[in-house]
Amino acid sequence: MMTVRGYAWVLEAPKTPLVRVDRTWGDPPDGAVLLEVLGCGVCHTDLGFADGDVAPRAPLPLVLGHEVVGRVLAMGAGVRGDLAGKRVLAPAVSPCGVCRACKSGRATACPKGLMPGNDADGGFASHVVVPGRDVVALDDAPGLSGPIGAAGLEAWEIAPVADAATTAYQAVVRAGLAAGDVAVFVGAGGVGGFGAQIAHALGAKVVAIDVSPARLEALGDAVDERIDARGQTSKDLRNVIRARRKAWGATDAPLRVFETSGTTAGQETAFDLLDRGGSLSVVGYTRDKVSVRLSNVMALDAEIFGNWGCAPELYAGVVDLVLSGKVAVRSFVERRPMDDVNAVLDAVRAHAMSKLAVLVP
Ligand SMILES: [Zn+2]
Ligand SMILES: [Zn+2]
Repeated sequence: MMTVRGYAWVLEAPKTPLVRVDRTWGDPPDGAVLLEVLGCGVCHTDLGFADGDVAPRAPLPLVLGHEVVGRVLAMGAGVRGDLAGKRVLAPAVSPCGVCRACKSGRATACPKGLMPGNDADGGFASHVVVPGRDVVALDDAPGLSGPIGAAGLEAWEIAPVADAATTAYQAVVRAGLAAGDVAVFVGAGGVGGFGAQIAHALGAKVVAIDVSPARLEALGDAVDERIDARGQTSKDLRNVIRARRKAWGATDAPLRVFETSGTTAGQETAFDLLDRGGSLSVVGYTRDKVSVRLSNVMALDAEIFGNWGCAPELYAGVVDLVLSGKVAVRSFVERRPMDDVNAVLDAVRAHAMSKLAVLVP
């Protein structure tokens, strides 16, 4: 029986700051791994829980955080042995693997998935226990501590891949995006930024639309056309996209629109861009409602998908894209001490973070 000592930042009640408490961890249960946290990303979902906008599935007190990179310290029975001592990425959600949704290839619709920081204590802590089945090894051997992959990444920089980058990848896969297609991302930060890079890596022509010139610039060569949406109507945007498709010789390639802003303005814009035979992937989240003419979906023979999270079997592909440098993460992440968690949540709440914050113990 092992015991490790550490600490966790705990949400005790909604709308109150997280509280640091001392904790000990013993041997993990069957199928689970105990990780020493190397980095945990902060996402809007964490803020929703902290602010009481959304109730986590587990009762409070709860440790938030679901974008975890860590080192495997101990493994429960049934976990594959080659993970011992390696640095790993833990998926934001581990589907149950046995329900009808999981067995029919729709793991992201699993009603019994386990999400750290929602169904169980998460990664805003020195250590965390996560399901062992779906973690992705970042190292070839145990005990390594240097830069990872051809991109030479530090472990903490990979944390947002657990949610932001993999969600984008799942959305791109579900939309059936192929080389030569035209991908339009409405919202170029976070998930949208990763989506644009992934679509570019897959050989699509990429259009990014945002109200922030800085976010558009940050995407560099991954974007074939960037559009500052400020002051532009949907008709203006459609005209720009039509002209670009003509210039690219891609007028008959399907238009795949991705709503990644999570704003009502973005959702209305994305819906207005829907084109004949094309699709709209709803990836961003807002509680607010929009008013649209739903019949356009009929008239255009178009499709609309939701997208929640990412199937575990797709994680390795995203990790490859990131470790090889085909999808950049370094310029999109900011390292903060774990003990700054309340200040970081305040900054996310105030929209004062221009990058994805990763808490490092
Ligand atoms: Zn998240
Ligand atoms: Zn399931």
